[in-house]
Amino acid sequence: MKLVTYLHDGKEAVGVLSGDGAAVRLLPFPDMNALIEAPRDRLLSAVKDAGDSLPLSAVTLLAPIPRPRQDVICLGINYKAHAEEAERYSSEAFKKERPIPIYFSKRVSEAVAPEGFIESHSGLVQRLDYEAELAVIISKTARNVRAADAADYIFGYTVLNDVSARLLQTTHKQWYFGKGLDGFTPMGPCITTADEIAFPPALRISSRVNGELRQDSTTDLLITSIADIIEELSSGMTLLPGTIIATGTPAGVGMGFDPPKFLKPGDVVECSIEGIGTLRNTVR
Ligand code: MG
Repeated sequence: MKLVTYLHDGKEAVGVLSGDGAAVRLLPFPDMNALIEAPRDRLLSAVKDAGDSLPLSAVTLLAPIPRPRQDVICLGINYKAHAEEAERYSSEAFKKERPIPIYFSKRVSEAVAPEGFIESHSGLVQRLDYEAELAVIISKTARNVRAADAADYIFGYTVLNDVSARLLQTTHKQWYFGKGLDGFTPMGPCITTADEIAFPPALRISSRVNGELRQDSTTDLLITSIADIIEELSSGMTLLPGTIIATGTPAGVGMGFDPPKFLKPGDVVECSIEGIGTLRNTVR
């Protein structure tokens, strides 16, 4: 299933996309977090009984979880080729012993819609950058989960652009400010449920800026796997239903080029993952 949050007649709703992705049917849940927490059989019967479909052109898609209940958990430097480009850009900021994962938190008061705007924060932000990432959505309360059982705790997957202000990120010792500004988390266009994607996911992930291919990799090249991330985090931190884990970005971000290719107002950033879809966001 591909599940979405959308606006129709000024009201926010959740729905399921048709097989061809051209239409949406309303589901009887107040929001996506309530849908994720509902028993599986209730979700399946709601999908079976869903009402008339609306053409997708008649609605405005929002991020599938527009207002996450908690900050997004992020992995830093989790693809080998990206680790190398980050270290070339700033060895002081990014040189790390591996394979101990870097976890950080991304504040998201409101996630950006799949066709919404990335805020450039001119005056505050220099060196604005993009990071296409596979995000995992947790299905049920996870504590002390073994890696072998981790797939049972995944509700589905979405695309997330971990927009980054590189100068803030590297000036401050922690990444929280440089990663957590308003308008820095485009997400969507849908959640593809875990039953549709073989585990661990091996999906093509790419990004383009103004049509130019920048990142092009596959999601099975993570340094720390999704199963290991869930095992380690849940060994001491309860992961609640609806938790979003962004698993890191492959090589090809703006700071990885020589000279760097940072974003400017008017640029169009597309982040795509096979089987989920494309975010198409304009910088303003
Ligand atoms: Mg990232």
